[in-house]
Formats: sequence, structure tokens, C-alpha cells
Amino acid sequence: MDEHRLDGNAAGGILGEVFTFEMTTARAACAHCGATGPLGSSMAYVSEIGTVVRCAACDNALIRVVRQDEGPARYWLDLRGVEYLQLE
Ligand SMILES: [Zn+2]
Repeated sequence: MDEHRLDGNAAGGILGEVFTFEMTTARAACAHCGATGPLGSSMAYVSEIGTVVRCAACDNALIRVVRQDEGPARYWLDLRGVEYLQLE
């Protein structure tokens, strides 16, 4: 699979399609190691099937988002790697 490892800002586009607030500056707490920081400073793995935002400290998957374009467009969102999100 063609996957690109980028900084978390690379996930801003698809997250911006789902959330109405700016997600790259939202602070997330990792449910695995407790590290906190803006999503834009985590790691993003972007591929054709979706985007995974990973904790910069422990590589835990914070957010997985997949856009399904077949039929009615829909998003699949997995946030279980996030303990909480803090929004400005
Ligand atoms: Zn972590």
C-alpha cells in the first residue's frame, strides 16, 4: 500500500471535512501514554484508503478516518486512541 508518513497537519484536510473546528490545533491526550499536544504535531499516515494520526511519543493510533466514496459518501471515524480532545 502506498502510505505516506507526514506530520499531523497533513490530516487537517480530511479532519476538516468532518469537524467544523480546526483539528490541527486541537490538543489531544493519548489514551495509551498520556502525552498531550496539538494534533498538528503528531504523526499522520496518509494513504488512499484513509488517514491515521499517531501519537508522536508512543505511535499509538489516536484517530483513524476513512472516507467511503461508493454510494452515499460517508466517513468512518475511530477516536478510541484519544483520551480527550481540547478545543479552542
Ligand atoms: Zn502516546
